[in-house]
Amino acid sequence: MNTILIITDNDTDAKLLHDVLTQANEDTFNIEWVKHLSSGLERLRAGAVDAILVDLSLPDSQGIATLDKLFAVSSQIPIIPLCTTNNKMLTAEMMQRGVQAYLSKEHLDSNLVPQSLRNIILRKAAEALLYIEKRRTEITLSFISDAVIYTDVAGKVSFMNAAAEGLTGWSRNEAQGHHINEIMRLIDDETRQLVDNPVEWIVRRGKSLTLTDANTHLIRRDGRKAVVGVSAALVHDNAGRSIGSVVVFHGITAIQVMAAKMAYLAQHDTLTNLPNRMLLNDRITQAIAMAKRRGTHLALLFLDLDNFKHINDTLGHGVGDKLLQSIAKRLCDSVRGSDTVSRLGGDEFVIVVMQDKHAQDAALTAEKLLTALAAPHLIAGHTLHVTTSIGISIFPTDGEDAEALIKSADIAMYHAKEKGRNNYQFFKDEMNTRTAERLAIEGYLRDALERNEFILHYQPKVNLETGMITGAEALLRWLHPEWGLVMPERFVQIAEDSGLIIPIGRWVLREACMQAKRWEETGLRLDSIAVNISAVEFRLKDFANSVYTILNETGLNPQRLQLEITESILMRDVESSITILHQLKTIGVKLVIDDFGTGCSSVNYLHQFSIDTLKIAPAFVQEIGHDNGNNGVIVSAVIAMGASLKQHVTAEGVEKWEQLAFLKVQHCEEGQGYFFSRPIVAEQFAQLLVTGLSDRNRVS
Ligand code: C2E
Ligand code: MG
Ligand code: MG
Repeated sequence: MNTILIITDNDTDAKLLHDVLTQANEDTFNIEWVKHLSSGLERLRAGAVDAILVDLSLPDSQGIATLDKLFAVSSQIPIIPLCTTNNKMLTAEMMQRGVQAYLSKEHLDSNLVPQSLRNIILRKAAEALLYIEKRRTEITLSFISDAVIYTDVAGKVSFMNAAAEGLTGWSRNEAQGHHINEIMRLIDDETRQLVDNPVEWIVRRGKSLTLTDANTHLIRRDGRKAVVGVSAALVHDNAGRSIGSVVVFHGITAIQVMAAKMAYLAQHDTLTNLPNRMLLNDRITQAIAMAKRRGTHLALLFLDLDNFKHINDTLGHGVGDKLLQSIAKRLCDSVRGSDTVSRLGGDEFVIVVMQDKHAQDAALTAEKLLTALAAPHLIAGHTLHVTTSIGISIFPTDGEDAEALIKSADIAMYHAKEKGRNNYQFFKDEMNTRTAERLAIEGYLRDALERNEFILHYQPKVNLETGMITGAEALLRWLHPEWGLVMPERFVQIAEDSGLIIPIGRWVLREACMQAKRWEETGLRLDSIAVNISAVEFRLKDFANSVYTILNETGLNPQRLQLEITESILMRDVESSITILHQLKTIGVKLVIDDFGTGCSSVNYLHQFSIDTLKIAPAFVQEIGHDNGNNGVIVSAVIAMGASLKQHVTAEGVEKWEQLAFLKVQHCEEGQGYFFSRPIVAEQFAQLLVTGLSDRNRVS
């Protein structure tokens, strides 16, 4: 029911209105009637009036002023003046005041009056609702952080909120009527191309758009760029015709930065900042695609540091980590910017190299890397020498995808380790069987000690002046039940990698000491018994202790025991080597640098190591008599160096008479090699000790 307030002092008019309104439908209108404006205003203040019918000539108010007073009290209620139609001036003034309809006094009894009144009331209510809706939208739009632009179908801007002003740099008034292309310029940051404007996009495709590409940049009015996420939708009228669009967008810089950071973390190794396995796979896949397009090759270099574990174990992870960082830097410095250096974890690195011409060029890169890593790393007061073993696989020959290429390079890397480390190897198909063999060896090795499958062979060391046997080097052999005699080069590396070398090495040391002691007790005296020590054993914290214990248990004079340690083991961490060598010296054992000349030693360090003997590597001895320009030069140099450092020198791998003769001329004290005797079992060696070397082998 609508309450209608009639304000008129004309009784007839009031009666007419009352009749026409009530007769239409009793329930629709509730009529209230006052004669004065003042009582009308009072009634309005009490509220709940839906429409006012007012005579503009009242006892207490006349003309337009009456309307003003009513508007002042209630602007939302429709006010319908009762007029005479001929007053045009007044009608015009009323319209200006916002009056939307009036009733002609001549037709107050018309049946159309109730209908018009109802329409006016409904329209006013709808307007009020619309107004509230509009205000609500305006307030919402001014507060939200998303930028909002309204356009017509042609893309001309009709509205933009404060956030849109902020993001674009255009004010609402300036932007009004401009095409959205001018206000909101979008480019793809990667391709530098203009991105289809969202309005054009949705108009063309007839559907809404959501664009959250981190590459979409908004070019602001001042030229600055902002990464934005954009959504746009068409607005339709109730007939379904497009009448414009709403474009919503927001700067995603902060989000993007965060997302980029997370993506970076997920794809990089935190220690070295190098790409990790995940990113490496991506890069390889990309590189493969490029190589296919260009018809070029791709090389994968798999690097594994030699004996890194020992540095970590002995100097701690802090030093290990710094060393890895230093290595990462050198690797990056050694390749082109377009190549990928990645860390797989631990001490494994993979480098992806695009080969423009020949697949074999990877060898040059590998050599470069070996050289780059050869220089010492100065870390936390330690001078560390590390070498690396490199396996190389080539696309497409050694694998079609990232996984296969990594696997092939990994296998080749193991091959490089077996070849003595600090070198590189290209993958070959037959290497696959080698890895199977590796696994088998490792499996059997675990039980070999318990099953007593190891034996020692002894090879004499000979005084080159007198021809007498001065000592023996104990060399490990494995008597495998199926494979027969297995030589150390096939299993020592595997034993080192698996840590099995520790118990095996202890067994060798004890067995050799016991054997020397037994010979001694049977009157077969030897100046020395030499045992080879691997890097893993040497770096063990209690190594010196265990040597001491074994000497005590076997009763062998420490002076008789020689420990053979390779140069590269000592050079790996010079400072701690000095300490360990010192501990061993204190026990009284003799120290020998094995394979001297093959590691990266410097005379400076040599001086600091308390070494008794330098053992010249067979490779140099075998150069004697060779017409390659090196003819014994290194051997002579080592002999001279030994003399000046007051160290003994043993030449290893003497096979020929000429070599022996050369060594004698150079005053080399001691020799070892097939020329005198191959390594032999203990019984044979005892025999040799009794008989001495045959005349043929004797040094005359
Ligand atoms: P190494 O300590 O340098 O041992 C010398 C190697 O040269 C021995 O090989 C020996 O048989 C070989 N040899 C001796 N005279 C000649 C010669 O005139 N010509 C040639 N071409 N070779 C000669 P083997 O016994 O196969 O041992 C190889 C390596 O395995 C050793 O090199 C040593 O590094 C390692 N090894 C042997 N036994 C042990 C062990 O008990 N513990 C550890 N950790 N390593 C061992
Ligand atoms: Mg040796
Ligand atoms: Mg040697």
